[in-house]
Amino acid sequence: MKKVIVIGSGIAGLAVSIRLALKGYNVQVFEQNSYPGGKLSSFSIKDYRFDAGPSLFTMPHLVTELFKLAGEDVKNYFEFSKKEIACNYFWQDGTSFKAYGERKKFLKEVEEIFNEPQYNVDQYLKKAKKKYDLTSSLFLEQSLHKLKTFISLDTLKALFQLKTFELQKSLHQANTQSFSSPHLIQLFDRYATYNGSDPYQTSGIMTLIQHLESAYGTFVPKKGMVSITESLFGLAKRLGVKFSFETGVKEIKVKLGVVSGIKTKSDSFSSDYVISNMDVFHTYKKLLPNEIPPINRLKQERSSSAVIFYWGIKQSFPDLDLHNIFFSKNYKKEFQAIFKDKTVSEDPTIYINVTSKEVVGDE
Ligand SMILES: Cc1cc2nc3c(=O)[nH]c(=O)nc-3n(C[C@H](O)[C@H](O)[C@H](O)COP(=O)(O)OP(=O)(O)OC[C@H]3O[C@@H](n4cnc5c(N)ncnc54)[C@H](O)[C@@H]3O)c2cc1C
Repeated sequence: MKKVIVIGSGIAGLAVSIRLALKGYNVQVFEQNSYPGGKLSSFSIKDYRFDAGPSLFTMPHLVTELFKLAGEDVKNYFEFSKKEIACNYFWQDGTSFKAYGERKKFLKEVEEIFNEPQYNVDQYLKKAKKKYDLTSSLFLEQSLHKLKTFISLDTLKALFQLKTFELQKSLHQANTQSFSSPHLIQLFDRYATYNGSDPYQTSGIMTLIQHLESAYGTFVPKKGMVSITESLFGLAKRLGVKFSFETGVKEIKVKLGVVSGIKTKSDSFSSDYVISNMDVFHTYKKLLPNEIPPINRLKQERSSSAVIFYWGIKQSFPDLDLHNIFFSKNYKKEFQAIFKDKTVSEDPTIYINVTSKEVVGDE
């Protein structure tokens, strides 16, 4: 049985371990933390439980698929439901907007609140779907390391439709050309932040992120985001994946250009393959210091992070839902502060996640 070492038990490390165990590999995961999940973890302070990182659950089929592949019924291990309202938005002039998951309701609300014709928004969403349909099979569902990903009928189709992608425009320009309401433009500009980008710099192709939310919907795990980690960790263990916690990997061993295992602080382990779930930048810099790195990839600008506060409040807020956005007055200035001045804006957009609205046990 071929052996695979996985560095890191983040959600990606867990998913790849499950897939490899199902294919018959002997999988061992080394994790520097004392718990699995990486960013997708949870902690408690006194009576309050907090999901540490991600809070918005989209594309649940990527989780349920792993149980299906293993021949298990996901309902026995992980429960989630669809959200009727994806997010509540608030502006400083008193405007508020409920982003309904259902398309008809969403369009009606947009017309009522922003005075934007339903037809315009519908066309915009259809275009976003087209961008997604043309690119998802290329960039989301296949390995970018394989030549056959690029030499395919799907690539040809995408190349013929290059104009659809609005690559030459920024996301903000694409949105400004689609809508007249500044609030609605700001709402759609926000999707750039889903991968830490600036809507004034990132390309118009990014409207496809909005498609993921509007077409698939948004979901909430009954026992909090961390239950995604817990359920996959359990599945991996049932499939025989071994985990070593509090065991940081210090080096990936390479012999004559071929990976042969890893080194921890005190031991050395051999394997046929090594998969790193660690950030690619640090994998090359820290674990493969003697190898020639993919320089262009490592030079790419890093995405922005976020300042997070975890607050336990003994009060209820009827106007808030699970996901809430309070927009800054001047979005452009805010992104200039982050991406040009490299500082936090004086008037930042604030996202508030209130897990007690939905998560069993957090009430
Ligand atoms: C604040 C925040 C909010 C987010 N919100 C959302 C959201 O709402 N919805 C969403 O879909 N996504 C969201 N994301 C993104 C999402 O959290 C990440 O894309 C995802 O969790 C990344 O998973 P990963 O497995 O790739 O990496 P990670 O979770 O970073 O896992 C990497 C693992 O590797 C381990 N590791 C690293 N180096 C070593 C080493 N040398 N040896 C051993 N172990 C090592 C780490 O300890 C960690 O456990 C958010 C991210 C952040 C930071």
